[in-house]
Amino acid sequence: MSRLVRYCRGLPRFPNPPPVKPQLLALNLSTTSSTAENVTPADRMAGPPPIRVDLTESAGRGVFASRRIGAGELIHTAKPVLCHPSLSSISAACYFCLRKVISEGQSPTFCSRKCEDSAKVFYDVEKKADWSEFDAYCRSQGLKYPQMVKRLACQVISGAASAELLDILQPASVSAEMALMMEEGYGSLRRALSGANIPDGKTTFLSREWYYGVLARIRINAFRIELALSSYEDLLSSAAACVEAEAAVGNAVYMLPSFYNHDCDPNAHIVWIENAEAKLKALRDIEADEELRICYIDASLDHDARQTVLLQGFGFKCNCPRCLSGD
Ligand SMILES: [Zn+2]
Ligand SMILES: [Zn+2]
Repeated sequence: MSRLVRYCRGLPRFPNPPPVKPQLLALNLSTTSSTAENVTPADRMAGPPPIRVDLTESAGRGVFASRRIGAGELIHTAKPVLCHPSLSSISAACYFCLRKVISEGQSPTFCSRKCEDSAKVFYDVEKKADWSEFDAYCRSQGLKYPQMVKRLACQVISGAASAELLDILQPASVSAEMALMMEEGYGSLRRALSGANIPDGKTTFLSREWYYGVLARIRINAFRIELALSSYEDLLSSAAACVEAEAAVGNAVYMLPSFYNHDCDPNAHIVWIENAEAKLKALRDIEADEELRICYIDASLDHDARQTVLLQGFGFKCNCPRCLSGD
């Protein structure tokens, strides 16, 4: 199954990451040890997850086992703090949780009344604006992350989220070249919202710096979500799905899962079964105090290909045991 549940994320490791504030770690652990819906009783965890976030010797902060974890164990689940379906999945995925839905039109759709109600925190604001120019910009450039910034902006305007929501995530520097590329999206977002009859005071956070900073953080922290195949029908349609340009159902940003470092021979992985809720699972037995690592890329690539992808796409040279062995 793991080959079908590939995901991708761009998370360069920074040589000198900011120190992690203990109170923020406590917050993360408590908010992500959710007993979420759709978790089977066997998976449902009692108490906090068996992990702690701590500083590593070389890769900034990381996630460590606080006790022995057995192969296959569900370590914890995590709800996204921000997610958005791919533009090609707007009519095929719930606009809130990314669960598969069948719908005719091209407008956003929801899997349940609950998701529809939950989406009010951004959708009521979003519906006030004309997004045709912004969406056309994203489609023509093949961009997905500006849609997530748009959603966060709508959440902030509605009062449901803080403009600083993502500040705990690894920051990313914005080069002049990147800023130039972001400028059009920023202008387009501003134009859409300025035509939406939103009181001025509610959009004061929406500076150029805010847009660039949020987009840069999303770029290096977002996970690409491909739902696990859950039925025979899915299996039959997967061959066709694979040839589509965008197989991912959407993208999401999480808090705790973003703290996992990379390894080409990981001891943990993330799966998405039916929606954007991430499930972190142990791939093998893990000893207490061992660091939990996931693979950011397709682990079946050979050594040189992995090094190239990680360096170009993620900004670091991998020195994991597998790479050091030349495998
Ligand atoms: Zn839903
Ligand atoms: Zn490696």
